Amino acid sequence: MPKRWSKKWSGQLSNSDTPTLALMSAMQEELSCILERLQATPVQVGSRTYWQAQWMGQPVVAVLSRIGKVAAATTASCLIEHFGATQLVFSGVAGSLDDRVQVGDVVIASELMQHDMDASPLFPKYQIPLTQKSLFTTNELLTQELKSAAVQCQQEIGSNMQTQGMWDLLGLANKKIGLHEGLILSGDQFISSAKKSEALKLSLPQALAVEMECAAVAQVCDDYGVPFAAFRIISDKANDTAHLDFEKFIQTVAAPFGAHVIEAFISNRAGSR
Ligand code: SAH
Repeated sequence: MPKRWSKKWSGQLSNSDTPTLALMSAMQEELSCILERLQATPVQVGSRTYWQAQWMGQPVVAVLSRIGKVAAATTASCLIEHFGATQLVFSGVAGSLDDRVQVGDVVIASELMQHDMDASPLFPKYQIPLTQKSLFTTNELLTQELKSAAVQCQQEIGSNMQTQGMWDLLGLANKKIGLHEGLILSGDQFISSAKKSEALKLSLPQALAVEMECAAVAQVCDDYGVPFAAFRIISDKANDTAHLDFEKFIQTVAAPFGAHVIEAFISNRAGSR
């Protein structure tokens, strides 16, 4: 049974020169693939189980945020307040909003926006009331680290039999995974019709992908001044013609590949310490 919190976290996981890194995922398959790679201790706070570990010397707390902006935002606050997280990284899947962004590609967020925020005419559409912000920028250094890890994994796919097998299974063999960096949108809607995705593309043509959590986490991190970075593996085209089975894609491709990227990210850090 996970322990329950009775007191505020005192930050024992962290020491002065190694920040506590929080790893967030929205779906169980994604978290499970990360947890398989470390020996973590569960701690229960509210209705979430937070998994604490030292991963190659890096203090980490991994957690399932669940799906949607509120679930992700409360989880992010708890990571910062109770667990003393000083950096947050989110991995997951998303729908593509750009013809150049294919299923199986990776999108690294440089900016995030809540596409369903609209308090107009009191505030401009998309602006988070009383912040004067509609776009949240991810942390440059963390994003660079994620990008290097993703590039490494992209190159390894050809030589890694296990990963190659997953790709074959989905008919993506010999496909070079595209890596993109740009704007990701979040909102409390699963975008699964051409009508909805076309409307989003028309209003926000610079957006590369759409999902349901990261812009909310970015807002929390902005409130606390905590560095944040995120990447998403494209699971669908955010329309009614997605040709892949969503659950199967997550289990066989997105979750293992996402965990592989996180592992490379941690390993690179361990190498440079
Ligand atoms: N079938 C799943 C539902 C997943 S909801 C279940 O029953 O559990 C979709 C998750 O994937 C969210 O975490 C969201 O961030 C992401 N996502 C993937 N494609 C998306 C899309 N087209 N629109 C919105 N979110 C998407």
